[in-house]
Amino acid sequence: MELNKQSDWVARSLRSVWHPCTQMQHHETVPLIPVSRGKGAWLYDHEGRRYLDAISSWWVNLFGHANPRINAALKDQLDTLEHAMLAGFTHEPVIELSEKLSALTGHVLGHSFYASDGASAVEIALKMSFHSWRNNGHADKQEFVCLKGSYHGETIGALAVTDVALFKDAYGPLLRASQTVMSPDARLAAEGETAQDVARRAAADVERLFIERGDKIAAIIIEPLVQCATGMAMHDPLYLQLVRALCDQHNVHLILDEIAVGCGRTGTFFACEQAGVWPDFLCLSKGISGGYLPLSLVMTRDEIYQAFYSSDVTRGFLHSHSYTGNPLACRAALATLQIFEQDDVLNTNKVKAARLTQALQPLAQHEQVRNFRQRGMIWAFDAIDAPKDFSRRFFATATEHELLMRPIGSTVYMMPPYILSDEEIDGLAANTLAVFNKVMAG
Ligand SMILES: *Cc1c(COP(=O)(O)O)cnc(C)c1O
Repeated sequence: MELNKQSDWVARSLRSVWHPCTQMQHHETVPLIPVSRGKGAWLYDHEGRRYLDAISSWWVNLFGHANPRINAALKDQLDTLEHAMLAGFTHEPVIELSEKLSALTGHVLGHSFYASDGASAVEIALKMSFHSWRNNGHADKQEFVCLKGSYHGETIGALAVTDVALFKDAYGPLLRASQTVMSPDARLAAEGETAQDVARRAAADVERLFIERGDKIAAIIIEPLVQCATGMAMHDPLYLQLVRALCDQHNVHLILDEIAVGCGRTGTFFACEQAGVWPDFLCLSKGISGGYLPLSLVMTRDEIYQAFYSSDVTRGFLHSHSYTGNPLACRAALATLQIFEQDDVLNTNKVKAARLTQALQPLAQHEQVRNFRQRGMIWAFDAIDAPKDFSRRFFATATEHELLMRPIGSTVYMMPPYILSDEEIDGLAANTLAVFNKVMAG
């Protein structure tokens, strides 16, 4: 490890790397942190400081950095097959992964189509939905429905079903119009209303739209249980049951975007299991490769697959991507799924989650905090009367307390890897409280 190089790396990065989701000028005041290595839940900079990765490096890392089991699988795969094209050829990692994922849905979603990033998985689901309707003689089903506050990625097609004002305002003229329905966000409960009441109200909004123009609508896309990017807006599973029934009744596809909430994040492997429903298309990415390599996929039903099965090329699904089904990424995913089995992760996480929820009680009861909420391995709360630039200040202050955290607006959240020790859980809670108090004091 080289010492005293930190400032050099920062200067060189700012000169040549255009960082994502960043107004670059902010780095005149907000620190840019060059990471030299990672181990477990920790990232280390070039000066030996460490940061607990409380947001799993943008929600991707499940079992820590430099995980020995995933590393070993990748090293073996690297010496076997790094990549081969998936048109005309196939290979063991992609076959095994598709079979394992199919089994996890009880073989309801038995066909997996691969890409590399989450936004592309969303694009694929949208295209597949439209094209399958057309192949079945419903070419006028071309519209998509999304939820208020939804986030499904930032390519132009995915952005069209993303309801984030900042992006919509900037790129609106490039986007295809979509219909937006009420969010089932439990925080919208009126006096005396329960989360289930909000779910019913939000489903009624979907029903109104389906009655009005269901024959024009191809699909509704939903991030089940937790709308993450809008600020960890959580809803009752009842909403998914009601929308599934409406989709069946009005012949509309249900696309569930489990890119962030899948892979055990909400407590079950797939979030939709908590509602007891399966979608027509399920998008996975982020955690599926353990946070190692870009990998995304769309799982779908046999009826959809059959709609494309024909001797006619134009009836086949038309989407190609150079690195589709990359063997290294699939092998990382297989190693990740194996850890779920070997370590009984979903049950172990329940114990970890209960401990962190307990440790966060001083924040849950803090007089400047409202809507403390948790589902599975996601925690969030909203700051009351947060000071200006709350999010950026919180990030900077957190780095001084060995934490990597990036609030969304005035919502502070935690989405840690599933490997925190008791000591790390308690430290995370204590440091978050200290950072929050400092930032709120101005
Ligand atoms: C991150 C995310 C995406 C986009 O994934 P990328 O890999 O960043 O393109 C889509 N949907 C949801 C719910 C996400 O959290």
